[in-house]
Amino acid sequence: MTDTSSALRIVWIYPDLLSTYGDQGNALILKRRAELRGIPTEVVHVHSSDPVPEHGDVYLLGGGEDRPQILAAERLRADGGLARAAHNGACVFAVCAGYQIIGESYGDDESNPLPGVGILDIRSNRGETRAVGEIVADVDPALGVGRITGFENHRGRTVLGPSARPLSTVVRGIGNDDRIEGAYQGQILGTYLHGPALPRNPELADLLLRWRVGQLSPLPPAWGERLHDERLAAALH
Ligand code: GLN
Repeated sequence: MTDTSSALRIVWIYPDLLSTYGDQGNALILKRRAELRGIPTEVVHVHSSDPVPEHGDVYLLGGGEDRPQILAAERLRADGGLARAAHNGACVFAVCAGYQIIGESYGDDESNPLPGVGILDIRSNRGETRAVGEIVADVDPALGVGRITGFENHRGRTVLGPSARPLSTVVRGIGNDDRIEGAYQGQILGTYLHGPALPRNPELADLLLRWRVGQLSPLPPAWGERLHDERLAAALH
């Protein structure tokens, strides 16, 4: 558990390469939900030319097109900071391209396997079709998050190894493989959900905060809960 007398350090990895569909909103909402509870935060933007700091609490990665995704993976592997932070127990929340590249391997735009950062026991490669549209999934009850919604747009498909657990079961959409969406392993969590995912699913944002600071005071339902319910109704109507 983090010492909350110092700021919760949120590290936004490679906004210049991995930030599609408003994924930066994940950093904004984590900061907001922490600060509403009196937890001080510090958000660090790490561009792909910068070293990745090793002492963050939550590392966030977003989605990206195929070529920026390859560049991001190469730079993260060469830098080594994200892997060291993860091995030291940091929380990582990665979306779509970010999810694929924190795994063991992922496919390039011609389906050749390329090495990932290797902090989540998953392997991805290109599927026959592109998965595009709204996605709804029920999160592993062990995580206490309930039903999540998002937007997906990816060609990749993902298979879990024995150390990773499925994040959720697909209700609508494709996710990893039509059945399972996302994966987690300790405090490393990956998902195909854009939206952005954390503003659309406040309980998922609070899961990450709980992992770092422990028990959280409840917040009164606000626009985030309304957005969650509105998107859920729209996706399932
Ligand atoms: N380029 C990856 C794919 O198509 C990830 C896309 C994304 O991040 N939205 O699978």
